[in-house]
Amino acid sequence: MRAATGIVSVDLAAIASNWKALAAKVGPAECAAVVKANAYGLGADAVIPALAAAGCKSFFIATPAEAESARTLAGDARIFALDGLIAGSARDFASLDVIPVLSTPGDVFAWRDQARDLGRRLPAAFHIDTGLHRLGLAVDDMETIAADTDCSAALDLRLVMSHLASADNPDDPKNAAQLAAFTDRTLRFNGVPRSLAASDGLMLGPAYHFDLVRPGYALYGGQASAAHPAPVQPAVSIKARILAVHDVAVGETVGYSATWKAERQTRIATVAAGYADGIPRNASAGNGDRGGHVVIAGVKVPIVGRVSMDLVTADVTGIDPSLIRVGDFATIVGDGISIEDAGFAADTIGYEILTRIGARFRREYTTASNTTD
Ligand SMILES: *Cc1c(COP(=O)(O)O)cnc(C)c1O
Repeated sequence: MRAATGIVSVDLAAIASNWKALAAKVGPAECAAVVKANAYGLGADAVIPALAAAGCKSFFIATPAEAESARTLAGDARIFALDGLIAGSARDFASLDVIPVLSTPGDVFAWRDQARDLGRRLPAAFHIDTGLHRLGLAVDDMETIAADTDCSAALDLRLVMSHLASADNPDDPKNAAQLAAFTDRTLRFNGVPRSLAASDGLMLGPAYHFDLVRPGYALYGGQASAAHPAPVQPAVSIKARILAVHDVAVGETVGYSATWKAERQTRIATVAAGYADGIPRNASAGNGDRGGHVVIAGVKVPIVGRVSMDLVTADVTGIDPSLIRVGDFATIVGDGISIEDAGFAADTIGYEILTRIGARFRREYTTASNTTD
């Protein structure tokens, strides 16, 4: 096997036990799994079968390509496609038995027409807007659809859902407002299962659970809301190789544009991880109170100078030189650096760190977990 510059270690047992912990928390509501964007960058090929084996029966993906691979990985589980009917995908979704999440009247009518063409009812989900104003049917749209009697004949409505804007902040009154709007706007769908909450929303309490919750980030160990930590454990670590260690004299600079200057004799470790690998350029030193860190020889050390395409440089002055060997790994996430820490350091969120880990880093999967569930 070719040597990789970086390794993403994904603990599939931790992901499975995170799913079980969330499922236990929300029971009797169903706990689905959001595995869009290649299971948040971790590898849908490994993550979907692990979750299916843990008992997960409903998966959410975004795109037609993700739907196709999820169908081969998830056995006969339900698959919901959050982006709806991307042009021309209705036929594929019908043949793959994928349930599109419909959020415009145009999508609803296209799916109705597909059902007509096939001469059978098709399963569908409706996304209702309750204030995020991103995707979702407006109240007027629902009137338009209700007026089309062919729709109810053609579509077998399996889920009505909405999405919260501010669930990471339990104090935001928008949560209760969206809850009330959702409750009100779903009355007309008597008996159809309902879903409102993702990772952060499900931590707002049972009123937000309805019949099904849709966590993604929390499954992968992410803490979407600092105020309400989810009962999950870290499942991901990211490491990259140290390529060189060298000393720079006082007054010398490190990296592009010479943004960092040594104020003392400084020892620099150069690590094979750059923005092409998903290390945000905003993790460069000097970004206000931000700026990233890596862990080398057990010590958390600051990134100095600019993050470049393939490389970062870290200040390892003071660490016993015999402990820093070229070829060893520096930790980017793990060893005390959470996904959230890595996101904060670069003015972003852990979600972006996970989903942008580059293709050059090898994904490795472990199935042994030291936790019980
Ligand atoms: C991405 C997404 C989710 C999952 O969100 P997490 O915060 O990762 O749990 C749930 N629902 C919708 C509509 C989404 O787009």
